[in-house]
Amino acid sequence: MADNWTPDSWRSKPILQVPNYPDQAKLEVVEKRLSSFPPLVFAGEARSLKSHLADVCEGNGFLLQGGDCAESFAEHEADNIRDFFRVFLQMAAVLTFGGSKPVVKIGRIAGQFAKPRSSDIEKKNDVELPSYRGDIINGIDFDEASRIPDPERQIMAYRQSAATLNLLRAFAQGGYANLENVHQWTMGFVADSPQGARYSELADRISETMQFMSSIGITAENHSKLRETEFFTSHEALLLGYEQAMTRTDSTSGDFYSTSGHMIWIGDRTRQLDHAHVEFCRGVKNPIGLKCGPSLETDDLLNLIDRLNPENEAGRLTLIARFGHDKVEQHLPQLIRAVEKEGKKVVWSCDPMHGNTISAGGYKTRPFDRVLGEVQSFFDVHRAEGTYAGGMHVEMTGKNVTECMGGAKAITEADLQDRYHTHCDPRLNADQALELSFLVAELLKK
Ligand code: PEP
Ligand code: MN
Repeated sequence: MADNWTPDSWRSKPILQVPNYPDQAKLEVVEKRLSSFPPLVFAGEARSLKSHLADVCEGNGFLLQGGDCAESFAEHEADNIRDFFRVFLQMAAVLTFGGSKPVVKIGRIAGQFAKPRSSDIEKKNDVELPSYRGDIINGIDFDEASRIPDPERQIMAYRQSAATLNLLRAFAQGGYANLENVHQWTMGFVADSPQGARYSELADRISETMQFMSSIGITAENHSKLRETEFFTSHEALLLGYEQAMTRTDSTSGDFYSTSGHMIWIGDRTRQLDHAHVEFCRGVKNPIGLKCGPSLETDDLLNLIDRLNPENEAGRLTLIARFGHDKVEQHLPQLIRAVEKEGKKVVWSCDPMHGNTISAGGYKTRPFDRVLGEVQSFFDVHRAEGTYAGGMHVEMTGKNVTECMGGAKAITEADLQDRYHTHCDPRLNADQALELSFLVAELLKK
């Protein structure tokens, strides 16, 4: 076990982004109840994910991580989950085919409810209210009552996560992800787009390969790898009271695991070495992600790596670079060099979303060409340094939203208002997510 660590040792550290609960007694009751609930995921699953990520670390796999910026209580329809999952499977198919490597699939889902905010206060027409911090904390409606943090929301988030995970497990293992269905994953509105046509061609090739394999006796019926997929969950470990309540001792190893999701990550705003979020994450054995933004200095990164992965275990730590399309070349090379020099084992993943957020027409949006540009630069830098670009981390949905500008369907500033549905940051729609995957598949071939 990590030295001097307990599931609550984070409580004596400085902490940022913490909600101001008016009723502490109620909060304690909720945390106690949560700690008696069944785990959402099992330690063995988190270990299995870690071993897949260790393969990625060695260059023998690619990590695809994606989903909503923030899940919401209002949108909990089966259709939403299914549409996300089918686009995610399509992206994975494109990447697997392009890279000829297994794709490790991790959703930002079944627990992605807590949001860090750049300001504690939101202002609209001279009215000031506490900021929305995600459905697990307070409500998005712009009125005073909604914005009061309510501990009961943690129970609702737990139950929604359980139901979402239950459906995802059924989709992953119950036949939906069977590669024989590779054509059926296409959403109607994607079918008639350039990405739809490109995907259909690729699906034809996969089907052909399947027919060939079937003729020599390898079928989905007798090979689970064709019939099922492994799908993992992740979220930002921001609300530490909730994470602590979901932490359990694994009966086989005696280690602590956060059972709120398979992988958890530390956000760019809460990654201070001696603060609470790093303290909590260092003690649980799950795979951990660390967002790396432009303010991260080389020494800080090395200290964080030592703190979070003292045994230098491959697969334990994924560094998620999110600099902005025009800042990758300025920041990434020195971090890579330091990591290489010290022989630290990490997965390098690219989040091309969070450094490319702009405001246009009254909306928070992301120009798709900048998203593509950041991914391209990320791969270029790794190629120049002789290191492995191991993954991507995106905010996306299966819905036909208009939140990010650009893409083959050329969403304009004026189009943003049509279907801008996100509860927090703008997401790639299904078309844009596929277009990005085709680009990355090309980069993986090189
Ligand atoms: C996020 O992933 O939604 C997020 C807030 O990212 P970051 O911590 O990189 O800003
Ligand atoms: Mn976000």
